[in-house]
Amino acid sequence: MDHRSESTETLRNKCAACFRQFNRKEHLVEHMKVSHHSGHEPMCGICNKHCRSFESLREHLIGPLPKQECKNIFSILGCRFCLTILDNPNSRRAHEGRCQFSSVNAGLLARLANLGIHDKLSIDSGRTRGPQVVALACKMVGGGSDGSLDLCARICIIDEYENIIFHTYVKPPIPVTNYRYETTGIRPEYLKEAMPLKQVQKRIQEFLCNGEPMWKIRPKGSKARILVGHGLDHDLKCLQLDYPLIRDTADYPPLMKTSKLSNSLKYLTQAYLGYDIQIGIQDPYDDCVATMRLYMRMRSQAHIKEDYPLVNNFESRRQSELERMSPEELLDISRSDYYCWCLDS
Ligand SMILES: [Zn+2]
Ligand SMILES: [Zn+2]
Ligand SMILES: [Zn+2]
Ligand SMILES: [Zn+2]
Repeated sequence: MDHRSESTETLRNKCAACFRQFNRKEHLVEHMKVSHHSGHEPMCGICNKHCRSFESLREHLIGPLPKQECKNIFSILGCRFCLTILDNPNSRRAHEGRCQFSSVNAGLLARLANLGIHDKLSIDSGRTRGPQVVALACKMVGGGSDGSLDLCARICIIDEYENIIFHTYVKPPIPVTNYRYETTGIRPEYLKEAMPLKQVQKRIQEFLCNGEPMWKIRPKGSKARILVGHGLDHDLKCLQLDYPLIRDTADYPPLMKTSKLSNSLKYLTQAYLGYDIQIGIQDPYDDCVATMRLYMRMRSQAHIKEDYPLVNNFESRRQSELERMSPEELLDISRSDYYCWCLDS
């Protein structure tokens, strides 16, 4: 094999999504089987490289080891929040202005909420349709002998327009040993007459299921509500609640670190929405709003519509058939291994 045919061989074995090159076609096929590339991955607006997460796209565009050509264009035309490339510097400026959120005025809402329970948790009657996507956040105090056991003491639920649906203090079922006042702002007297956990749990469960029996809840087309949050596993565990229809910003591959660990909500809000949360005493309303905004941004991404977005097309095909396909054809049949939130819209 001379040098020329060797390089065309490598070129033929170049992944059409992440541009990795392989010496042999079978290695590219192996790579495609495990990488789950798809049109739902974050993509560089300049060279079209697919990335597993926005974080790795950010590295590709900004650094520490960026692709120089893409970096140069990004620095003039790129939005630093959603990483999109705009047509010219003026539209970039206008776009960035819309893309960056400002912090919500939690202070006033928090004071209002302190006056009592804010409660609009209701099941839809047949005629009216209430919010179908809601965000939930809790603030925890400490229980147990060393105060390290998380107990939900405050909870907030909002609709997709950031209106409060539910906001209340919660009375934990066991004694509180650390109120964590510096971050929660919670004092013992706030919890004395608060709604007991059991009651909160029951009301939220009914509200989320919205008249649908738990076993009937499907990803699409049921009356049950989509629950958005950050680290919902932990929140739901503290609420002793079980719910299947969740969208978790701590557990969504495009929003995770390149190390596949979760980002903090504080970081995501800073990097993707452009403002600060969780400074000093924290209101769960701020967390609800941040997660809802992140969810909406992810959901509104314009991705290609595929047939059977979640079906693995590699399993049903023979190795020899796959090895005859071009890198573009392989990418064409490749499907994501996670549920992209654009499918909710
Ligand atoms: Zn690849
Ligand atoms: Zn998508
Ligand atoms: Zn690029
Ligand atoms: Zn943007």
